[in-house]
Amino acid sequence: MLVVACIKQVPDTTQVEIDPVTGTLKREGVPFIMNPFDVHALEESLRLKDRYGFRVAVVSMGPPNTEITLRKSLALGVDEAILLSDRAFGGADTLATSFVLAEAIKQLHQKNELAAVICGRQTIDGDTAQVGPGIATRLGFSQLTLVDRIEDVDVVSKKVRVRRKVGGWREIVEAPLPALIAVVREINRLRYPTVPRRLMAEKAPVSLWDNKEMKLDESMVGLRGSATQVRRIFSPERVKGEILGDGLNEPEDAANLLLGNLIEKDVLYFNSNR
Ligand SMILES: Cc1cc2nc3c(=O)[nH]c(=O)nc-3n(C[C@H](O)[C@H](O)[C@H](O)COP(=O)(O)OP(=O)(O)OC[C@H]3O[C@@H](n4cnc5c(N)ncnc54)[C@H](O)[C@@H]3O)c2cc1C
Repeated sequence: MLVVACIKQVPDTTQVEIDPVTGTLKREGVPFIMNPFDVHALEESLRLKDRYGFRVAVVSMGPPNTEITLRKSLALGVDEAILLSDRAFGGADTLATSFVLAEAIKQLHQKNELAAVICGRQTIDGDTAQVGPGIATRLGFSQLTLVDRIEDVDVVSKKVRVRRKVGGWREIVEAPLPALIAVVREINRLRYPTVPRRLMAEKAPVSLWDNKEMKLDESMVGLRGSATQVRRIFSPERVKGEILGDGLNEPEDAANLLLGNLIEKDVLYFNSNR
């Protein structure tokens, strides 16, 4: 059986700046990384390979340089890396992204029976957490989100049992295969690539699936297939900190001063009738 891990290459957002004039991300010279949540989706897929002998494929939709990130996954032990890249796929929102990913997964499923699709919980750039559920909906799979442990996969009865991290408690859920599993970061720790695998990955092929290969309706992909538009990106203005009551010694005086300030600035509302 096959496990598909969906990974997205994202800008290293600790180093991204916004152009104050155009309001867009400054992408020049920005390093790219594998989305930190997807690192755990990849590791969990490899653990399923270790436990059940599944084959692992990774898919990523993105520009041609996404190949670098896919190659890193080959060094960790995946069997097949597929880059979904075409000019027509560019500018996709979550609707169009989940469409292309779901179609690629369908094509893989035709060649090899699918056990699960594993995604990260969310990305650190788009941050919507919509793509995983979008894929599940399009493929009619159960969606298991916020998963912090895969308890068991029963390949005979075709069921998966997972633990979900919900608020302050945990929930054990069972679903039929194939299922879509979106994982949280606590689920595992990434393995290190071995030197022979790293050398092998440098030469290993990354398959490129463009739209000549996928033959998708162009009105369903990229900007044309997107239902949302980003109007503006901006950093919210930061209000400078203020030191109040420097030199006040009594806690009660300090509390009264703070309270008065918060009421004056409409942060707190003081109801004199109560
Ligand atoms: C009009 C418009 C134009 C946009 N143009 C671009 C653009 O040109 N380039 C761009 O990068 N973003 C673009 N975006 C943002 C884009 O919508 C999202 O980044 C993308 O759809 C994924 O959503 P997300 O990042 O919120 O992922 P989430 O829903 O937060 O991701 C959840 C999980 O889904 C999987 N996943 C998400 N995206 C991918 C992917 N591409 N490949 C494989 N797995 C994935 C990962 O496992 C991830 O952890 C655009 C958005 C809009 C609205």
